[in-house]
Amino acid sequence: MTDQEIEKQIREYFEENYELLRLEGGHALTEAGKQDAFYQVLYYWKKLKDIANKVTETEVKLSLPNQETTKGRKFSIEGVVDIVREENETWMYDIKTHDPDYVNTHKELYEKQLNIYAHIWHKLRGNPLDYTAIIATTLPAGLRNAIQTNNERQKEFELNKWKPVIEIPFVEKHIENTINDFKKVVDNIEDKKFAPPPLKVLQEKMEGSNTRFATRVCRNCDSRFSCTSYQEYVQSLGSKSFAAFKKYFNDFGEDTDQEQWIEANLENAPPPETVEPIT
Ligand code: SF4
Repeated sequence: MTDQEIEKQIREYFEENYELLRLEGGHALTEAGKQDAFYQVLYYWKKLKDIANKVTETEVKLSLPNQETTKGRKFSIEGVVDIVREENETWMYDIKTHDPDYVNTHKELYEKQLNIYAHIWHKLRGNPLDYTAIIATTLPAGLRNAIQTNNERQKEFELNKWKPVIEIPFVEKHIENTINDFKKVVDNIEDKKFAPPPLKVLQEKMEGSNTRFATRVCRNCDSRFSCTSYQEYVQSLGSKSFAAFKKYFNDFGEDTDQEQWIEANLENAPPPETVEPIT
């Protein structure tokens, strides 16, 4: 197949998948949001076609069953990875829709999860493994900008600059600590302990970025309306706190975003005659 034929096929698969997810989840994307999602898939292919062509096993399900927390609760750890086997080496890839800068500055977070998968694949199942890596699929701002302005030279430049494959070292001595972290999380969930991080964390700039935790994470969090730390954060913004409080708590995106979202969902809503009346 030529690259053009493959890109046409990617568009068809994307549309089919989108339709399936829309029917399953009952949510539609705006045209702009859908186009962004498609570009992420398309440019993933353009950038990583060499790896994509070499994938020997895709969506490999890995499971570490029969784990037990300190409080005696049973649980399993599960994940999905891609495997590339070449003549002399085997790579394990975990695909994340995260931005590469964030992954690079928080490697330890990704290392934990990926090391568990490597442990299952290599140590427990006895498969060969030489390298593990994250593929961070979020398009860099420069590339997004070049796509939007349809600047071919800039697109090529940004595509070459983009480094979405981030190697993560396999550190086996951390496996036990990671499993213990999972145990604590399971116990906290089952004990209904969902305390948010303290105000100090929300105020701090996230490592590797110039953005505060509250801006980067909390503004996208549906729990912010009932989160005590977020309330404290908004109040800490100073004398204009009430206006700021309202601004942040009512931040549902730009007006145009909201309109497009509503329109997209109305367009995709089932016809009125198929909806059961509420009695
Ligand atoms: S708003 Fe959400 S992300 Fe932010 S601290 Fe609260 S629960 Fe955590």
